[in-house]
Amino acid sequence: MVIRQISRRRFLQTGLCGLAAGAGLSLPLMLEPLPARALTHIRPPGALDAHAFDAACIRCGLCVEACPYDTLRLFDFDGSTQGGTPYFIAREVPCEMCPDIPCLQACPTGALDPGLDEINDATMGVAALSHPGLCNSYVGNSFCDRCVRACPLQGQAITLVIGPTPMGGLFTPVVDPDVCTGCGKCEHDCIAPSAAIRVVPRHV
Ligand code: SF4
Ligand code: SF4
Ligand code: SF4
Repeated sequence: MVIRQISRRRFLQTGLCGLAAGAGLSLPLMLEPLPARALTHIRPPGALDAHAFDAACIRCGLCVEACPYDTLRLFDFDGSTQGGTPYFIAREVPCEMCPDIPCLQACPTGALDPGLDEINDATMGVAALSHPGLCNSYVGNSFCDRCVRACPLQGQAITLVIGPTPMGGLFTPVVDPDVCTGCGKCEHDCIAPSAAIRVVPRHV
């Protein structure tokens, strides 16, 4: 487990700013209402930006078939631009960050960019402690580092920062949005009944 000690001021800054910065969203944009699935449905690794992806994806489902963890599903063909395209929901089945990226290898159109050859460089989404009141460590109920231990990039994408929190705790999971891939393993493993740490998609 990786624990870092930083100042209270720095701790507050990182805890609050990571989500917006990492998702590439300005604060005003984050305050705009978004479709519910835009906050939970994450594209596979290597997905092009939203409009390019919707244009390039031929809805063949080969990425879904190739995924050894049954992470991926296809949107229903509901007449929307996203109908038939692949996604996953981190809380249900996260991406296991396969080194050989079989979903991408299977994609025949480049909707999943073949230029991504290192899974650690994927930018599926970005995690943040978006619901700190649900985090046992943050509110001081008990010590918990499940999200940190779940991360394939532990100590790089996420660290447990020690320092007093506004809710009476002593530890805060802090995500580096420049390193986080958005795999969702932290959100999946969070022991809170509804996750305290959540991934915002970058591409849907
Ligand atoms: S990297 Fe592996 S686990 Fe993740 S979506 Fe692709 S095939 Fe599935
Ligand atoms: S393999 Fe590529 S083209 Fe086929 S559904 Fe997946 S992303 Fe779309
Ligand atoms: S989504 Fe969570 S588990 Fe995955 S890389 Fe980011 S911090 Fe780590």
